Amino acid sequence: MPRRKQSKGICTYCGKTMTQSGLTKHLATCTQRQEAIAKANQKKSASQKLYHLRVQDAYRSEFWLNLEMRGAKTLQDLDDYLRDIWLECCGHLSQFSAGRGLAAEVSMRRKIDDVFQRSSELNHVYDFGTSSETQIKLVEVREGQPTTSHPIALMARNLMPEESCIECGETATHLCLECLMNDQTWGVLCDRHAETHPHDDYGDPVLLVNSPRLGMCGYDGPAEPPY
Ligand SMILES: [Zn+2]
Ligand SMILES: [Zn+2]
Ligand SMILES: [Zn+2]
Ligand SMILES: [Zn+2]
Repeated sequence: MPRRKQSKGICTYCGKTMTQSGLTKHLATCTQRQEAIAKANQKKSASQKLYHLRVQDAYRSEFWLNLEMRGAKTLQDLDDYLRDIWLECCGHLSQFSAGRGLAAEVSMRRKIDDVFQRSSELNHVYDFGTSSETQIKLVEVREGQPTTSHPIALMARNLMPEESCIECGETATHLCLECLMNDQTWGVLCDRHAETHPHDDYGDPVLLVNSPRLGMCGYDGPAEPPY
């Protein structure tokens, strides 16, 4: 896999684009987010803990998310979310562990409140064959009302990394799975070269999608958030 420069991402509250580190800081002061929080906090229900989590692919750091998750929800909810937005190809097993590495498995039934009392870092593995590894770091905790009725709010996400066609250098839109599987080459292609590319062992080149799992175990998206 090629090295790429740090990808930019977008704040889902105000639509601003910036680097990952910039966005992680920005979320604490984003005016639109503060307004959404203030509005949510007018509700009369008991306040709860909400966790700002930074999620990043362990090997392809240009893929990342900033999530806000309810403390009463479980790791199962987080696993569901990661599968939908990034990972799911054919129902492989997955596991969370405390810290880095796989040794200290943390049950999917554990609540976020409980998990982050003991550790500020989690590791997630999807598929123990062709593994996708994701790191989850606690950024901060706030007390109040969630801004959504779902377990998780997507606060920021990387923009699709820009890639250049291996034939002509134009913006790539497709990936050839035969280049990847047979030649271990990251065979990204523009529209024009995707049509004339000679490989078809794994079908036509697939569309590039915004997921670190693209091409692994034949994963081809859609890489859309579930909500
Ligand atoms: Zn913002
Ligand atoms: Zn699979
Ligand atoms: Zn091309
Ligand atoms: Zn190819």
